[in-house]
Amino acid sequence: MRIVLLGAPGSGKGTQAKKLMAEKNIPQVSTGDMLREAVAKGTRFGLKAKAVMDAGNLVPDEVVLGIISERLSQPDAENGFILDGFPRTTQQALDLEDLLDEMGTPLDTAVLMDVDFDILVKRLTGRRTCSLTGELLNVYFSSQEELDKCTSAGGELIQREDDNEETIGNRLTVYRESTEPLINFYKQREKLVTINAEGEIDAVYERLLNAL
Ligand code: AMP
Repeated sequence: MRIVLLGAPGSGKGTQAKKLMAEKNIPQVSTGDMLREAVAKGTRFGLKAKAVMDAGNLVPDEVVLGIISERLSQPDAENGFILDGFPRTTQQALDLEDLLDEMGTPLDTAVLMDVDFDILVKRLTGRRTCSLTGELLNVYFSSQEELDKCTSAGGELIQREDDNEETIGNRLTVYRESTEPLINFYKQREKLVTINAEGEIDAVYERLLNAL
């Protein structure tokens, strides 16, 4: 199974990719996660990427293409992969098409995860990670009990650096301008399916499995 999860920041691509990865035993390939790893290592490249990411802009196409082509050539991606956060521009989608053609393994499906704008903003501004467990929580949607479980065990609720209001605004604008055209791109290739990605995580996952 070779799929792209398409959707705005906050549409739940990472959450759903992780569930699918566990069930289907194919890797989640998240350019955002890989870039954050490079930033955490503090390399010169990482520092440059951090500035772009903190502003909510996109790192250059050729940079992410390099990361992706290396990742997809790893043995664990042989039986399939879930692309999360890539492609984000038409150029990236064309590059991906070429890369997969060369590998002789075309994409099966692009799943558009559809979420109302107001919900996206709440998901992003409220998103926190428990510093102890790495669990993803949300100050608007998680129960008080779940939030307290982290803090009473001595954990902190950490906010991603690009989840502040100003950067979120720009990330959503960048999505609209640069990534939304991919909806038509995959529609034209008859690879697009759209799911309603609002509501409970498990309910969205059901819809995702049905769509696939
Ligand atoms: P994400 O975790 O997918 O929201 O990505 C976080 C940030 O990493 C984005 O706001 C971009 O700055 C950068 N990034 C992730 N994926 C890409 C991509 N495919 N192309 C360009 N920049 C990306």
